[in-house]
Amino acid sequence: MSLIVQKYGGTSVGTVERIQAVAKRVQQTVAQGHSVVVVVSAMGKTTDGLVKLAQDISAQPSRREMDMLLSTGEQVSIALLSMALQELGQPAISLTGAQVGIVTEAEHTRARILNIAPERVERCLLDGKVVVVAGFQGISNSTDLEITTLGRGGSDTSAVALAAALRADVCEIYTDVPGILTTDPRLVPDAQLMDEITCDEMLELASLGAKVLHPRAVEIARNYGVMLVVRSSWTDEPGTRVVSPFKEGRSLEGLEIAHPVDAVELDTNQAKVALLRVPDHPGIAARLFGEIALQDLDVDLVIQSIHEGNTNDIAFTVTQSSLKQAEAVAEAIAPSLRSHDAALDEAEVMVQAQMAKVSIAGAGMIGRPGVAAQMFTTLAKAGVNIQMISTSEVKVSCAIARDDCDRAVEALCAAFHIASSTLDASPSSTSALPDADFPPVRGAALDRNQARLAVRSVPDRPGMAAQIFTRLANHGVSVDMIIQSQRCRLLDGTATRDIAFTVAQSDIEMAQTVLKNDQAELGYGEVLVDPAIAKVSVVGMGMVHRPGVAAKMFQALARQGINIQMIATSEIKISCLVSEDEGVQALQAVHAAFGLSGSQRIQVPA
Ligand code: ASP
Ligand code: MG
Repeated sequence: MSLIVQKYGGTSVGTVERIQAVAKRVQQTVAQGHSVVVVVSAMGKTTDGLVKLAQDISAQPSRREMDMLLSTGEQVSIALLSMALQELGQPAISLTGAQVGIVTEAEHTRARILNIAPERVERCLLDGKVVVVAGFQGISNSTDLEITTLGRGGSDTSAVALAAALRADVCEIYTDVPGILTTDPRLVPDAQLMDEITCDEMLELASLGAKVLHPRAVEIARNYGVMLVVRSSWTDEPGTRVVSPFKEGRSLEGLEIAHPVDAVELDTNQAKVALLRVPDHPGIAARLFGEIALQDLDVDLVIQSIHEGNTNDIAFTVTQSSLKQAEAVAEAIAPSLRSHDAALDEAEVMVQAQMAKVSIAGAGMIGRPGVAAQMFTTLAKAGVNIQMISTSEVKVSCAIARDDCDRAVEALCAAFHIASSTLDASPSSTSALPDADFPPVRGAALDRNQARLAVRSVPDRPGMAAQIFTRLANHGVSVDMIIQSQRCRLLDGTATRDIAFTVAQSDIEMAQTVLKNDQAELGYGEVLVDPAIAKVSVVGMGMVHRPGVAAKMFQALARQGINIQMIATSEIKISCLVSEDEGVQALQAVHAAFGLSGSQRIQVPA
């Protein structure tokens, strides 16, 4: 007999008939010999309706009263579902977040879970009852016992946190789609259902997965080793398993806030090859990495910076033993990479043999803009100059000089409270799992809500990235991709580099204001904004140590004549910025290139 947590979203409990159907499914699960805890959302669009009511009364309602209001939606559905179960002869009891001991911060409308005291649930289960729990809500740990909510979409988080606290065998998320798809089927009609995905991959695909599964829920599943399954409420199909390496006995204390970063990783076996001044037109990255892949060389970080005039810099890292070969490939194609502008020099190759890469990893950095900034500040204070930066949803990597790595690691472990004994010296936190079984690419995503900002001529000295990103973070601006150019330009005797990054479109104005404000003080040049960009990404655990994946992506884009404006990679993700109007075409091309397309038609609600 096992303990199962089942979560049903708003659509699944949208009507009386649907609530009765859910009750039947729950009863069947009990009949198979399992103990069941059910977490439900508010019926249908109830929460949206409540938000609208509040807005009709107040343009800026108090967040405390919003929580009082919004938490009622779930209370309706738990009572009705419990009644429906009792009607079937199945003993059941409904409980609010407070009653099951979901203790949160006192941050109204966006509280994170601090702890769960599941004794009452356990007692009810022993009595043979199905426990029906209100998702999305908790209670503050202050003496006032304030009702809090976890933020929109928060009932996934409630379900997975409860599953962790109860040590449930599985947490099933029932929804109105059949599981996790290889990409958004509204953009790519031949998207397919995945059988399995890892939590790390799911988090990197956050922009794609958010609608089906809240990233905070994935984060908890990953940290506590909860087995997650996403499946349809309407069928008996098995859905998609979201798996994580099991982590033993992590304390429930500080459940959602304890560790924004849970590993510091070091890879000392890196060497860098940079091609400076390559022409900015489609197909260049495809050619370069196509040649590299032909030599069977495994590329790790790839970075392409913003163009200056009409040329780009492309830099990548390989293991030190591959450097000679990689350099030869770059030298061989450099002479042919002449810009159309005859006045410009031909591309130039630069190598650095002794490099290291330090990374911080952790799902907890999602939505916390200060984390990357804290890394840069920590490195700056330790006097470490950052040569390349590459970021993804759950990881920030910096290429630094080999001689700096002891100092860098020591400082980062101290700053993020990581015991250096747990230092992950392998290049990937995913090493617990065998990569051989993983497809190189599991899914593809398109993010059209980003804008690109570039800060020109940033003085090249430790601490500049730290200052810029700390100031942005202090104003609540979350930065996604960050890239620092390879080429140093001399401006009035000072060496400078450009830094480019992407932010959510809604943050453009704030980011611009902050950057303009600090321009004189920090001594950088122009700030450029391009809102008309899209980010297309591929994610897969199997791309680790497998040559040719990046080349394949760049080639797919080149065949469509799509120009790549920026490239950034992490171990399990490659992202390219393209112009916004080519975004969907880029996604389709990449999805097809990795064989993700299929003939099964997946129905999804509009
Ligand atoms: N009812 C809440 C919302 O609509 C929580 C949830 O459904 O996950 O955001
Ligand atoms: Mg949801």
